Amino acid sequence: MPNRRDVFKNTLALTSLAAISGAATAAPAAKPIVVSTWDFGVAANQAAWDVLKGGGYALDAVEAGARIPEVDLKNHSVGRAGYPDRDGHVSLDASIMDEKWRCGAVAALEHIEHPISVARLVMEKTPHVLLVGAGALQFAVEQGFKPEELLTPDSEAAWKDWLKTAKYQPVANSEMSTYGHAPGSVVPGDVHNHDTLGILALDAQGRLSGACTTSGMAWKLRGRVGDSPIIGAGLYVDGEIGAATSTGVGEEVIRNAGSFLVVELMRQGRSPQQACEEAVMRIVKRRPEAAKTLQVGFLALNTKGDVGAFAIQKGFVYAQCDGTKTDRVVPARSVFG
Ligand code: ASP
Repeated sequence: MPNRRDVFKNTLALTSLAAISGAATAAPAAKPIVVSTWDFGVAANQAAWDVLKGGGYALDAVEAGARIPEVDLKNHSVGRAGYPDRDGHVSLDASIMDEKWRCGAVAALEHIEHPISVARLVMEKTPHVLLVGAGALQFAVEQGFKPEELLTPDSEAAWKDWLKTAKYQPVANSEMSTYGHAPGSVVPGDVHNHDTLGILALDAQGRLSGACTTSGMAWKLRGRVGDSPIIGAGLYVDGEIGAATSTGVGEEVIRNAGSFLVVELMRQGRSPQQACEEAVMRIVKRRPEAAKTLQVGFLALNTKGDVGAFAIQKGFVYAQCDGTKTDRVVPARSVFG
């Protein structure tokens, strides 16, 4: 006959086994929602919503959403029409993560218009998390992606225009910039405005996923990789807690493990809004002088479907779609402005 202590021990063992196998953490039913950084997130959300409204998987939704700006020829900050690096190469960064801590990413990938789909295959078909440069391209081609010249005539013209200044000054999220506008004016979004699509979704089964895709900073040094393909920096998903993504100067986000920080703050009890605010403030407090002129924005979603967003500079917006209201663009609050 087992005594009480044995029964207790066995129950404990079974409970931890269930937790390890995931059986104890089955996700509850949820109201689907998708959120994306920036106003171009509206089109991405629509593609994601088509998946979510039919009861589809959040991972399929964020991939479908991310593919939209990747082929938008008017979008010079993501995918095919992304502005090139200093030397004229279009090099793309992307990452994807699901509710079971599975993730994949590519960095400095050239000649492939859908880096997000290559990132998903890194996650699903390799034992690795991140492939870069020539190796990422080789993997993509092996998986059937067609290599192409991604530099569009528009992007090439903008690059050549920039070259005339012959100054190495890559910019991200230049919504406070005056470039390309009348002298003295400060307007949201200059002609080289450069932003990332970060997209987070919660599906009807309560599963969270996220994706992030970008061409990085315009005119960056060849080989520069930002936060977007770095799991924990540009994107992090914890299926039990929430998900976060970022946009802005990737170097600041990497320094502070930004998206992981936002999710970890939610784990400690903060709402998505409080978590985004605390993470932004940490960046600002650590480099107060630099923070006056740089932009970083976080977007977060928890397993209950609550959303938060916060940025250093004014001008950061996100798009939200949950089927009850039409897809809408929401301005995020910020430290300055
Ligand atoms: N976070 C991106 C990067 O640093 C750029 C951006 O979001 O504007 O590559």
